[in-house]
Amino acid sequence: MVADGSGPICFSRIVPMITSGFRTKTENDSLRNSANGNSRVSNHLVGLAVDINTQDPNFQEIKRVVEQAGLTWGGTFTRPDRPHFQLPAAGHNPTQEQINACDREHPGGR
Ligand SMILES: [Zn+2]
Repeated sequence: MVADGSGPICFSRIVPMITSGFRTKTENDSLRNSANGNSRVSNHLVGLAVDINTQDPNFQEIKRVVEQAGLTWGGTFTRPDRPHFQLPAAGHNPTQEQINACDREHPGGR
């Protein structure tokens, strides 16, 4: 719904700013080493998560629609991650095999 632009967000003329999507292991490790402390087994590594700009004045509406579409909001996590939305339920992380497969399919993030 969000990706094809045909859902309620587009209907409301709200375009969410996705600040992060698929990440390679290298990109994720680099972020891990920075101050934000993201997860080692992130759903970003298998293309099942996006981060959305929380500073958007329409963020609450975006959150409502994206959750209604079935994505899990990171704001509900034990360690809240407000920009984060993922397809799997909270606590469901990709396996190392899935991460390795995505890394092979998209070397260097391509
Ligand atoms: Zn995220």
